[in-house]
Amino acid sequence: MDAGARTEPTFRESVDLMFNHAVALMDLPPGLEDKIRVCNSTYTVRFGVKLRGSIHTFTGYRSVHSEHMEPVKGGIRFALGVNQDEVEALAALMTYKCALVETPFGGSKGGLCIDPREYDADEMERITRRFAYELAKRDLINPSQNVPAPDMGTGEREMAWIADQYARMNTTDINARACVTGKPPHAGGIKGRVEATGRGVQYALQEFFRHPEDVAESGLTGTLDGKRLIVQGLGNVGYHAAKFLSEEDGCKVIGIIERDGALVSDAGLDVEGVYAWIGKHGGVKGYADATYVENGASVLENECDILIPAALEGVINLGNAADIKAPLIIEAANGPVTAGADEILRQKGTVIIPDMYANAGGVTVSYFEWVKNLSHIRFGRMQRRQEENRHLLIVRELERLDEHLGDNWSMTSNFKEKYLRGADELELVRSGLDDTMREAYQAMHAMWRSRDDVKDLRTAAYLVAIERVAKSYTAKGL
Ligand code: NAD
Repeated sequence: MDAGARTEPTFRESVDLMFNHAVALMDLPPGLEDKIRVCNSTYTVRFGVKLRGSIHTFTGYRSVHSEHMEPVKGGIRFALGVNQDEVEALAALMTYKCALVETPFGGSKGGLCIDPREYDADEMERITRRFAYELAKRDLINPSQNVPAPDMGTGEREMAWIADQYARMNTTDINARACVTGKPPHAGGIKGRVEATGRGVQYALQEFFRHPEDVAESGLTGTLDGKRLIVQGLGNVGYHAAKFLSEEDGCKVIGIIERDGALVSDAGLDVEGVYAWIGKHGGVKGYADATYVENGASVLENECDILIPAALEGVINLGNAADIKAPLIIEAANGPVTAGADEILRQKGTVIIPDMYANAGGVTVSYFEWVKNLSHIRFGRMQRRQEENRHLLIVRELERLDEHLGDNWSMTSNFKEKYLRGADELELVRSGLDDTMREAYQAMHAMWRSRDDVKDLRTAAYLVAIERVAKSYTAKGL
C-alpha cells in the first residue's frame, strides 16, 4: 500500500484502532467492547486569570475514560498542543495501562493549553491553582474519585500547588494529600516518584532482555550491555531512562533529539552534561563533544539498537515509519507511534515495547504514593529496624564462625554493612516498581507466546488489559 496516500488518524483514533485490532481477537459479551472503548466524559473549562494587568483566558480539560475502578488516575499536561482528542486518547491509555500493571484505578487525563515557559513561577502558581479549583469543585480532583499526577510540562511543583489548593477547599478531609500524586517528598510525596517513569523504562528493557526469544524477534542478541540508544526528549522520562541505562546497564547514548535539534556522537553522549546544557541554554544547540543536527526528527531514522521516543505522540508516523532503522523501539512517551506506523513497523519486524507498559512506572509509583498518603505512614517505618535486628543475629553467628575457622573462611568485605541495612522507602519503591514491571511483562509475554494470532507485544498488552477491564465490568455489572 502507498503509505503516503493514507491519511494519519488523530491520536484518539489511533488508540481506538489499536484497541480494535486487539479486541477483534476476543470474544466479549455484546456491547461490552463499545462500553470499554468510549471515553465516559470530558469536562472542558475556560477560566480567566488576571496577569500583567489584563485577564488571560485559559482552556483546560479533564477526561474520564473508564470508572470500572475508582479513583480514576491520569496526569495533567501543560502544553500548547493540548486538545480534547489528545486528552481522551491519553485517558484511554491510562485505563489500559492501570489494568496491565494492576494498579486499582480507572483511566483519566487532564491538560491545560499553555506554554509554561511563557510565565514566571508566581504566574504559573496562580494559573495552576485556578485550574485545580475548577477541577476540584467538580470532584475531578478528589482522593477517592480522581487523582491527577504529573505529565509533560508539569512536575512536583505543580502537584504541590494542586494538593494545597485541594486541602484549602476541603479543610476536614483527612486524606486530602491523596488527591494528587507526584508531590515533592516534603509535601506528602514519595521517594523515587520523579525518576519512576524513566526507571520503569529501564526495568522494562531489563525484563525484555531476560527473554532471549523475544530479543531474537528484533534481531538483537545478548544483553543491554553495549546497546546503542537514541532518545527523543530529555525531559523527566527521557533523561532518567537515558541516565540509568547508560550509568547502570552499559548502554551508549549515541543520539539525543530535542525541540531545537539533535546531538549525535558515535562515541556516546554524556547524558548529565547534555541535560545540564539544556537546563542552562534551553536547547541542545552549541553543546560541544557532539555533532549538532538541525532537523532533529531526522535522527529518529539513524542506525541504533534501541530507539526511545520520550517526548510526544505521533513522532513515528506514516511519513517516516518505513525509514526507521532501529530494530527495537520502546515507547517511553505516550502514543509516539501512530496506528499506521505501527502496522508498517510490524511488517518490517521491528519490535515495539508499547507505551501502556513501557511508561507505566509513573502510575505504579503514584499508586505507592497514594497508598502512603491514605495510610499516613511512610513505607518501611514499622519494620526497618526490626529487620536490621534480625539480620544482626545472623551476622553475629557468622562472626563467631569467622573467629572459629580462622584463615579458612572469612566474610566477604561489605557483606555485613550491606546485609545489616534495612530497606528504606526508596529501596522499597524501586523493589515494588521492578516487581510490577516484571510481572506485567510476563503477562504480555505469555499472551504473545501462547497464541498464534497475537503477533506483537502491543496486541498482547491490549488483550491482557482489556480482559481485566472486561472482568471488572462483568463482575460488578453495568
Ligand atoms: P517533560 O515535559 O518533562 O519532557 C518532555 C521533553 O521533550 C522536554 O525535554 C521537551 O523539550 C522535549 N520535547 C518537546 N517537544 C519535542 C520535540 N518536538 N522534539 C523533541 N523533543 C521535544 O515531559 P515528560 O513528563 O518527560 O513526558 C514525556 C512523555 O512521557 C509524554 O508523552 C508523557 O505523556 C509521557 N509520560 C510521562 C510520565 C511522567 O511521569 N512524567 C508518565 C507516563 C508517561
